[in-house]
Amino acid sequence: LPLVKAADSLLLSLFQAKMSRPVQARRLEGTEENVWVEFVKLAATYSTVNLGQGFPDFPPPDFLKEALERILSKGSHMLHQYTRAFGHPPLVKILAQFFGKLLGRELDPMTNVMVTVGAYQALFCCFQAFVDEGDEVIVIEPFFDCYESMVKMAGGTPVYVPLKLKAPKDGKLMSSADWQLDPAELASKFSKRTKAIVLNSPNNPLGKVFRRQELELIAELCVKHDVLCLSDEVYEWLTYDGKEHIRIASLQGMWDRTVTIGSAGKTFSATGWKVGWTVGPNHLLQHLRTVHQNSVYHCATIAQDAVAQGFQREFELYGKPDSYFIQMPKELQQKRDQLVQSLNAVGMKPIVPEGTYFLVADISEFKSDFPDVPGSSEPYDSRFAKWMVKNKGLAAIPLSTFYCAAHKNNYSQFIRFCFAKEEATLKAANDILQKWKREKTNP
Ligand code: PMP
Repeated sequence: LPLVKAADSLLLSLFQAKMSRPVQARRLEGTEENVWVEFVKLAATYSTVNLGQGFPDFPPPDFLKEALERILSKGSHMLHQYTRAFGHPPLVKILAQFFGKLLGRELDPMTNVMVTVGAYQALFCCFQAFVDEGDEVIVIEPFFDCYESMVKMAGGTPVYVPLKLKAPKDGKLMSSADWQLDPAELASKFSKRTKAIVLNSPNNPLGKVFRRQELELIAELCVKHDVLCLSDEVYEWLTYDGKEHIRIASLQGMWDRTVTIGSAGKTFSATGWKVGWTVGPNHLLQHLRTVHQNSVYHCATIAQDAVAQGFQREFELYGKPDSYFIQMPKELQQKRDQLVQSLNAVGMKPIVPEGTYFLVADISEFKSDFPDVPGSSEPYDSRFAKWMVKNKGLAAIPLSTFYCAAHKNNYSQFIRFCFAKEEATLKAANDILQKWKREKTNP
């Protein structure tokens, strides 16, 4: 008998170890796959030059690193402890001052600003705080891919509206400005079920900087249909050729219905710090605070303190030539032009971006190197990008990543490169492209 009992309990423990009940919460269904996990791994395994994921390979500015060093060597030891949940006081104070000036209104640091773990968590708080089962959220394509999973995880339904490419005049390079909203199509997506629209200007992946007229159209529709605007402006300082970044929250009727999202990662070339923020009216931010206090509580105190010092410097230098917000886009514009030239020279037609870290290029002329397989379930650009990193050592991200499943195959002849890279990295990319071109002409 004891032997039978022992065998029974062994069987039971084996059975229990496996668990037969479903463990995954239903809200995760359809969001398990993540392109970044796959492409980051491919780049780490095969690439010699990584222009895939969006992060600079050059250091953040000295003033930011020095601020952190000062905190560590001379700062209060209390900076290693918890701080205020919704944002370290010196950081929310300077953010309120800075964005108050930009938006032309007085901001209360305690109620109009909330600090988050990167812009990612700001977005997560927004979708969790505002989106219910049955709500629709309008997403402009191409879009930063996490919007889709975050809307779904909150129980909402994303409704997509793609920017349309207007072919440029013969001989001219394509520009991100050639990708435009169809006003009638956009209007047709608004309904009683629409809770919010996500705007991302400057846009990742195209680098499009939305013009005033386009923003006014979005604003008009938001007001007409009583819809929220979640405005992801993480690339706000990165515009080129004098393009103006317009904050939709500054347009008529929009402050009360807009949450503006920013990132110190992009602002100060320090993506690993994961400091982000939201700016908006208290009646919206109060719900973000509820999500935030019940999830992460707050982000690293020392990082927030150093970012506050960085903003303090920028506040004093605002509009002056020494400002990082003036110098950084200048440098990035040169890097953009360098990559535009490299790609154009080999026939990988670039879409010249007006902003961001990114440049999208047309790979149609490279189809002969890696022929399409009709009927494949994976979009061509995705297979091309995988082939390219494995065979040429150059990592990029397929544009179809930034489209919903139904539209992916309509936009599968482009790949996205990140040009926020050291001179040497961009030169190494150029060398790969030149060698590739030579092999094409002399196979
Ligand atoms: N929004 C957009 C459009 C982005 O490109 C990124 C980062 N790639 C984020 C949000 C997330 O920013 P953070 O790193 O501050 O979380």
